[in-house]
Amino acid sequence: MSDTHPFASECPHCGQERLQPGYDRDELRQLIRTGAEIEAHCMSCDEYWPVSVEERADLARALKA
Ligand SMILES: [Zn+2]
Repeated sequence: MSDTHPFASECPHCGQERLQPGYDRDELRQLIRTGAEIEAHCMSCDEYWPVSVEERADLARALKA
């Protein structure tokens, strides 16, 4: 079982908070550490976007806990 860490990101197309269930904690830590884009997806719009700087900061805080 992977240790998933669902987080919400606002879809730039419909403005709704969309839960991103596909990442595990190690993966997210790695992406934040390396400065790589964290991609989010909206099922309604079928659009992908990189999460915002603020959302990254929230994630980084949450993952340290
Ligand atoms: Zn959307």
